[in-house]
Amino acid sequence: MQEKQELLRIENLHVNVNNKIIIKGLNLSIKSGEIHAIMGKNGSGKSTLAKVISGHPMYVVTEGKIFFEGKDITYEEPDSRSHMGIFLGFQYPVEVPGVSNIDFLRLAYNSKRKQLNQEEIDPLSFFHLVSKEITNINMDPLFLNRSLNEGFSGGEKKKNEVLQMSLLQSKLSILDEIDSGLDVDALKDISENINNFHNSRKAILFITHYQKLIEYIRPNYVHIMNKGIIQLSGNKDLAKEIDKYGYEHIL
Ligand code: ADP
Ligand code: MG
Repeated sequence: MQEKQELLRIENLHVNVNNKIIIKGLNLSIKSGEIHAIMGKNGSGKSTLAKVISGHPMYVVTEGKIFFEGKDITYEEPDSRSHMGIFLGFQYPVEVPGVSNIDFLRLAYNSKRKQLNQEEIDPLSFFHLVSKEITNINMDPLFLNRSLNEGFSGGEKKKNEVLQMSLLQSKLSILDEIDSGLDVDALKDISENINNFHNSRKAILFITHYQKLIEYIRPNYVHIMNKGIIQLSGNKDLAKEIDKYGYEHIL
């Protein structure tokens, strides 16, 4: 059997934000085909980790390295990380009045094609492509012509993130609290979309507080972040324990 390829490797990562040290020696390895969940108390550095992997300029790596498919991307620009196949879905997706959702999606899609030396796709062909995706995730086509995320409900914003993720066919998708603001049905729905998207060539790293989401998405690994490091790693049962006993007890 062929060895699974290591997609992401983080070694001894230290991250500063506004001169405050947030991540303090974090290690993580994710192989293609794997699903990893990160849990942990508020303020433990989960979103910071997500942002630093995607290259957010405010988050400064002061020590350690991040590798993607073996390449050192510690100081790579965010666009180039995105073109390499890293996708970040935000905890709170921004609303962009005046930019239609479909224009935004086409821009993102074409920017990736350009990078791969492929021809840009015209609006009509893109419309066909995106319509297929939108049916797959049970989203109302009317959302394509609305302004990006403007007035979208929590669930709709999250669906839109999943739509971006599937259009870009990212190799590593990082989803930060995809469950925030969702009711149980929407949670089930979005988990199903994520599970349909996932395959042996893609990896997913998702951040959550909810045992429910862990049950739906069934990650291979569950990591608990605390004070800027991954303090504990295990499987789905770890999430169950957290649910029952709380972080303090486990850590
Ligand atoms: P989590 O997602 O686990 O709740 P965060 O990564 O959002 O935690 O935050 C970790 C810590 O870093 C918090 O104390 C937060 O206040 C701080 N932090 C994060 N981003 C910034 C920022 N842009 N400016 C100042 N402090 C920040
Ligand atoms: Mg967070």
